[in-house]
Amino acid sequence: MLNRKTAIVTGGTAGIGKEIALLFVKNGANVIIFGTNRDRAAAALHELEAARVNDSQKVLCQIANVSKTKEVEETIQTLLSTFGQIDILVNNAGITRDNLLMKMSEEDWDEVLDVNLKSVYNTCKSLARPMMKAKGGCIINISSVIGLVGNAGQANYAASKAGMIGFTKSLAKELASRGIRANCIAPGYIETQMTEVLPQQVKEAVIEKIPLGRIGKPNDIAQAALFLATAPYITGQVLAVDGGMVI
Ligand code: NAD
Repeated sequence: MLNRKTAIVTGGTAGIGKEIALLFVKNGANVIIFGTNRDRAAAALHELEAARVNDSQKVLCQIANVSKTKEVEETIQTLLSTFGQIDILVNNAGITRDNLLMKMSEEDWDEVLDVNLKSVYNTCKSLARPMMKAKGGCIINISSVIGLVGNAGQANYAASKAGMIGFTKSLAKELASRGIRANCIAPGYIETQMTEVLPQQVKEAVIEKIPLGRIGKPNDIAQAALFLATAPYITGQVLAVDGGMVI
């Protein structure tokens, strides 16, 4: 489904991002993952190489901190000179630094906003002009249901994820006439390193609130990303993939 397409997946070395990268590779795309951890990047790259479905497919890993504007600009420039164009951008890199507002440090606020939201400005700004020149492109931003409904102890995370939604809708309006689509996925509770730190009783309480009765898997989000990557008449939307958690 993605033959001859080239995709960037940020935070593609683990969890949801790695699963999106793998599914895109299995569907014929060239895939570049961005990550910050060299060991995890090497392991992920190995998996991506093994998932290739044709000999001409390229997979690559870039060590790049998505919150750093200059680093992202330079990395994307290098990739454009190698690949010619980037067709799909998945902004997936994200972190949590949870605390009640009373106890939330300025550092934790800034770090979450920088990694989760400023990163989206960085990558989209670097790719908007090249995508406009190519008269097409697809941007998929991984937000969260927390950006839709909020959560005590996650004011920084919720603000970053809600910000992503406003950003995406604005970008969809700005770039639609150039054939560029921008959408969000809002995952519910997904089994990854980000959520494995939660205490068992919190996990059980969350499952009780999920009508489909199970925690999501990274592949549930990857399937949604593949759908949005190949849905030519959908833009500016937020697709909740949450087992019905926030109906
Ligand atoms: P994860 O912690 O397993 O993976 C996050 C990835 O982002 C890692 O590869 C990490 O290296 C990368 N990353 C972190 N900071 C980075 C930086 N500065 N530059 C580049 N890469 C960086 O998390 P996950 O659960 O797979 O989450 C992926 C995305 O999905 C995040 O944006 C998260 O907010 C969102 N999300 C997750 C859940 C969930 O339940 N797991 C729910 C809703 C939304």
